[in-house]
Amino acid sequence: MKALVKKESSVGLWLQDVPEPEIGINDVLIKVLRTAICGTDLHIYNWDNWAQKTIPVPMVTGHEFVGEIVDVGSNVNSFKTGQIVSGEGHVVCGRCRNCMAGRRHLCAHTSGIGVNRPGAFAEYVSLPAANVWEHRPGIDLDIAALFDPLGNALHTALQYDLLGEDVLITGAGPIGVMAAAVCKHAGARHVVVTDINSERLKLAKQLGATYTVNPTEQNLSDVQAVLGMHEGFDVGLEMSGNASAFRDLLANMCHGGKVSILGIPSQDTAIDWNIVIFNMLTLKGIYGREMYETWYKMSLFIEAGLDISPVITHRFGYEDFQKGFDAMNNGEACKVILNWDE
Ligand code: NAD
Ligand code: ZN
Repeated sequence: MKALVKKESSVGLWLQDVPEPEIGINDVLIKVLRTAICGTDLHIYNWDNWAQKTIPVPMVTGHEFVGEIVDVGSNVNSFKTGQIVSGEGHVVCGRCRNCMAGRRHLCAHTSGIGVNRPGAFAEYVSLPAANVWEHRPGIDLDIAALFDPLGNALHTALQYDLLGEDVLITGAGPIGVMAAAVCKHAGARHVVVTDINSERLKLAKQLGATYTVNPTEQNLSDVQAVLGMHEGFDVGLEMSGNASAFRDLLANMCHGGKVSILGIPSQDTAIDWNIVIFNMLTLKGIYGREMYETWYKMSLFIEAGLDISPVITHRFGYEDFQKGFDAMNNGEACKVILNWDE
């Protein structure tokens, strides 16, 4: 089968013929229909320090996908061929304290599809049945391919009560703008999104942000005044990985404000702990998605009309993957879909 492989320790990805994956008795074989390119794939493509430390080569990359089940292992009773599914990209150990207690999203020993084990930028991918999510009938395949990053957005956003609350999101990347859509759908009042890229702010507006801010042009305390807010934001979602964005967010929370942190800082980040203490903030780190409460809510939100489609800016056949990675690397693209069903 064809697959996008990190074949050697250097920049790029290679479209290669590799053997079809085998399935164990608890696994499901999926024919991949659509995939999406994630920031993580870009790190792997660009072969940065993180990728060099993390990715064994050769490795079939990719983890955002939707496909159709074409075979199931002899132990698998809950799935059958023909079902349209995506995969939870974190394969958990099943034996640590958290896994045993049913808190699989807190597993201490996750292994990542397309990072530590063969991924979904391929004609076929094999996954443990426990990682497979069946989509509701009629789901748009491009949207279904985005359930992994939509899950990051939704899991981060729904940590706290949003109904009637004022939310600040720092970073209007794909995850930040999808989080804006989720917050609006979940009943937040103001959903303010910051970014230094004006195209991304436009997208945030399209997806549900009620107000967008370029922090190089307007500061957040002025924004609060414009919006008639007196006490600061109730909920903060850090989705930029940028130190100054995070500090800005903390400084604009209300007393007792609640913050979820998804953005991965690229450098050591100092914050003013006095703000955290005297404003009595709650800070919570977020990794991945909750298995499978996040997936359940995503399916229902989409069925109930949550529209994240503007986040998809480019679509290519898989042979044109280079164009997709170029569009991501030059900052022109938000989400890129690769079609494997040709
Ligand atoms: P992205 O890099 O596309 O988006 C980040 C956005 O932040 C960009 O649009 C950038 O312009 C913006 N930004 C930069 N400086 C800023 C500033 N000073 N103020 C406001 N915005 C600023 O990333 P993404 O794919 O949307 O992911 C968001 C973050 O979440 C990234 O840091 C990513 O690494 C991280 N992530 C974490 C997890 C997890 O499980 N914790 C999963 C996926 C992604
Ligand atoms: Zn575990």
